[in-house]
Amino acid sequence: MAEPKAVDQLTLAEAKDEIGPLRQQISQWGREYYEQDNPSVEDFVYDRAYQRLVDIEQRFPALVTPDSPTQRVGGQTNGNLPKVSHTIPMLSMGDVFSADELFDFNKRQQDNDQMTEEEPAYNLELKIDGLSLSVVYENGKLIQASTRGNGEIGEDVTKNVQLIKDVPKVLPEPLSLEFRGECYMPKQAFAKLNEKREAAGDPVFANPRNAAAGSLRQLDSRITGRRQLATFMYYVPEWRKLGVTTQDEALQRMRELGFSVNPTNRVVRSKDDIQQYITEYTAKRDQLPYGIDGIVEKVNDLATQDALGATVKVPRWEIAYKFPPEEQATIVHQIEWTVGRTGNVTPTAVMDPVQLAGTTVSRASLHNPDYLQDKDIRIGDTVYLHKAGDIIPEISRVDKTKRPADSQPYRIPTQCPVCGSTLVHLDDEVALRCINPMCPAQIKEGLAHFASRNAMNIDGLGPKIINQLWEKSLIHDFADLYQLSHDQLLTLDKFGEKSATNLLTSIDNSRHNSVERLLFGLGIRHVGAKAAQLLAEHFGSLDAVMTANANEIAAVDNIGPTIGDSVATYFANNEVDALINKLKQVGVNMDYLGQRSAEVAAQAGDSPWNGRRVVLTGTLAKMTRRQATDWLTAHGAKVTGSVSKKTDLLIAGEKAGSKLTKAQKLGITVWDEDKFSREIEEEH
Ligand code: NAD
Repeated sequence: MAEPKAVDQLTLAEAKDEIGPLRQQISQWGREYYEQDNPSVEDFVYDRAYQRLVDIEQRFPALVTPDSPTQRVGGQTNGNLPKVSHTIPMLSMGDVFSADELFDFNKRQQDNDQMTEEEPAYNLELKIDGLSLSVVYENGKLIQASTRGNGEIGEDVTKNVQLIKDVPKVLPEPLSLEFRGECYMPKQAFAKLNEKREAAGDPVFANPRNAAAGSLRQLDSRITGRRQLATFMYYVPEWRKLGVTTQDEALQRMRELGFSVNPTNRVVRSKDDIQQYITEYTAKRDQLPYGIDGIVEKVNDLATQDALGATVKVPRWEIAYKFPPEEQATIVHQIEWTVGRTGNVTPTAVMDPVQLAGTTVSRASLHNPDYLQDKDIRIGDTVYLHKAGDIIPEISRVDKTKRPADSQPYRIPTQCPVCGSTLVHLDDEVALRCINPMCPAQIKEGLAHFASRNAMNIDGLGPKIINQLWEKSLIHDFADLYQLSHDQLLTLDKFGEKSATNLLTSIDNSRHNSVERLLFGLGIRHVGAKAAQLLAEHFGSLDAVMTANANEIAAVDNIGPTIGDSVATYFANNEVDALINKLKQVGVNMDYLGQRSAEVAAQAGDSPWNGRRVVLTGTLAKMTRRQATDWLTAHGAKVTGSVSKKTDLLIAGEKAGSKLTKAQKLGITVWDEDKFSREIEEEH
């Protein structure tokens, strides 16, 4: 991939062109990270993009806008938890990525008139990898706990924090004061939680930070209670009320009040001492029972902290030194090629397993042949793996000094590993593609996409079942799914009466989806869930989309020519025409069912609950009926009182009676409370 132009070489026009999409990308990653607790890129990828935005804005200050990610604290509140206004904003923190940058920061800071000492004392602390937490006490009693949210408004997590063991519920003194710190999940609890989730078939959390955030921001406090969260407190905004004058005294006072305070802080003055702390904790990092992603340096004198103040986003008296990504050496034994839904054939390096940032890693995607060749990765090579942010393992470099003498450059395959047809590069794409439309790997991937949550949302139809249905020749295309019989499903591995009925019900329910789900599920190139929604809203039916030409499609707001061409080309194909007719014959809805849009979608985003008719029955143990109803409606579901043919799902608590019997008779999907709780967790 070409390196972007250096910021100091950009013209104003180029900067203007780049800045909008860059901000959008950063905001999108921010939403995934802060609101959904589910990042899609590693922290260093985010940090690099963010730093580029900072550099562009510094060079062209006229381009700074108040809504730029550099001007606001990342993160919003999500719709479900009550909101809390922070009287004193909860800010983010500036960061540096090397000791030299840290010393430059200190030098600039020491030039600030508010710094009275020439060699000021700094308090160094570990940067705990969790999420900020505010706890408020009145007369020594814990009365409120909240997350940072967007810095001004956070989420009320009081009930949940009541169940975190190391947060004192009553202080030994009748203080009315706010304390702040980090809520985190210890490494061991994180490993166990993911193990359990994997065994239950639930998605695993990407890292301890996301696990902590997902566990704290729960509607059902009992889930939080089970998650073994812990805290380290580090800040008292109104420190004068505590009778302290320095940060290390404040930490000590908090310890005496019964808070959990990290024991590793150190007051230092010289560069050497700062460097030593960095070296020491870089080495000790892996042995700590909790995750850290850097070191925080704070001006120790609290009055000086106040005098230095803050920008709109970060305090001027503290800075985070972020650790460079961790690396591990290992040996590449094999390069595997897999075929994706669009025929994209991707290489994966298979290596000797190594421990990296808390997990065992033996595979890393090599993305495409160019990447593999640029890095010149060969079988037998010793490579360095990193996993910044504990997320996606990647090969950072090859140690060519260890390359075996008989090593040969890796030969990129010319034939599809699944169907054997010749592989091509379309246009100028870097991706290698199998363009055989009958390639079984592509068809199976396409079926899995069709059934996926944001597409037709066929609960229970995952890749393993699709594989079996395919191997038994029970399905060849999407429409075949709707002709499966109960008896055919019973021939699948581990499939009993109940699973067969449930799957048939989910398949049947998907017939009534609004058409944007089908439009997305067809897997047309460039048509994501959002584009599908826009097209469905605009055209109102699949027939209208199919008869529109490329220009008419491109003219839809936020669509454009790439999608226009792709959609028109797709529907010009006779085989596609035949497939759509077959789908019509099996009763799949081809119309846009308007009510999904506007308010419901705005509130609920792409929630799979949108439009689902749900009935609650029996006694729920973990939440009240009201809480469950509120959660469901907030996610776009329609909660009704009685079971009918139109009901999509019955959630049955203890002692469920006639509604359960009726639902079973009608073949409606029934969940117990545990399954419902797991789904709620997954949504957060
Ligand atoms: P941050 O997490 O880098 O730093 C600020 C936070 O550090 C504070 O709010 C506080 O909660 C925490 N902290 C931990 N220990 C502390 C201590 N001892 N003293 C004071 N504070 C302490 O800043 P942020 O604005 O919350 O997040 C930005 C970072 O999040 C980015 O640098 C990036 O690494 C990550 N991020 C990643 C993605 C992604 O997609 N991977 C997206 C958004 C943000």
